[in-house]
Amino acid sequence: MEKSPAMYDKEKFQMIFEYSPIAIWEEDFSAVAELGEYLKKRKVTDIKKYLTEHPKLVTETFCKLKILDVNIAALELYGAKTKKQLIDNLGKVVHKSALATFVDEFSALLSGQNTFETEFKSRTLGGRLYDVHLKVSVPEIYKTTFKRVVVTLQDISVQKRYERHLKQLAQIDGMTKVLNHSAIEYRLEEEIARSKRYRLELACMMIDMDNFKQVNDKYGHQKGDQVIKKTAELIRQHLREVDIVGRYGGDEFIIILPETPKQNAITAAERLRKLFDDRMHDMSVKIPFCTVSIGVGGMPDSDVNSSKDMIKKIDHGMYEAKKSGKNCVILI
Ligand code: GH3
Ligand code: MG
Repeated sequence: MEKSPAMYDKEKFQMIFEYSPIAIWEEDFSAVAELGEYLKKRKVTDIKKYLTEHPKLVTETFCKLKILDVNIAALELYGAKTKKQLIDNLGKVVHKSALATFVDEFSALLSGQNTFETEFKSRTLGGRLYDVHLKVSVPEIYKTTFKRVVVTLQDISVQKRYERHLKQLAQIDGMTKVLNHSAIEYRLEEEIARSKRYRLELACMMIDMDNFKQVNDKYGHQKGDQVIKKTAELIRQHLREVDIVGRYGGDEFIIILPETPKQNAITAAERLRKLFDDRMHDMSVKIPFCTVSIGVGGMPDSDVNSSKDMIKKIDHGMYEAKKSGKNCVILI
């Protein structure tokens, strides 16, 4: 029997659906329409707020969504062998952070948006966690009943990893591999806010190398670079894992010591000072080390409300250390 043009069209669209490189599922979202009715009856105006405050309603609605069909790319994305296996197990692969996504999704659709896009974390049936981009599209004829909606998912793990890597690179000082000027300032602002909110102690140091210009003058700029690099390396090695090190300027470093009383910070600063003093006088060391001057400050401090206040303090401490003859630690 001859195939009618309508049958060709149906086959064509079935082919596009099945073999699309993007994971697609066709779903029955009638439960979202029911949720909309329920909210209307309760005269809810701020849907997002209401759903956030009633998470059970959101998970119940999610559990009632019905998957009508999935394509081959969806099976591959989730590592499923058959459509049935994926449809039966989909509820099990929802990551706990997805609740906020459902709140956004349901409130967007119920507010009249016919598409909704987001990024979140999902798991394969085998348990591997990955980043996905999700798009829900509601065809015009189903915009009130949500009887058939199209959900597409794309694995964006590689792109996300690359973004995270770039973000990390942007925070690092290229020469010393510790945090750069703006990143250390940002971390300090965060740590000060945390210290104030939870009443935690917090110490901070400004370290400046003594007479570093002489190293440049005597050995050249390249050797000077090596000394700065080695200094950063030694500072990093002689502090705790949780301490945060940043290069604030040429030969200046800021160290954040979370949850550390001032007295312990002075001990740590004195240990660093001695380390560089010993190296400077050790003739067997090939690199021309400098001694260091250190200003130490700490929270709680009624004068310190921001990173700028703290930097002003420890900078002042470091300046006092220079005035006192260098190679010393001053608590401010
Ligand atoms: P002080 O004891 O008072 O700290 O004197 P100093 O000689 O260490 O000089 P100061 O801290 O005032 O200035 C730091 C100098 O470090 C200025 C600049 O010549 C040099 N410098 C800054 N950045 C770099 C860098 O990336 N590489 C090299 N080789 N030198 C730098
Ligand atoms: Mg200096």
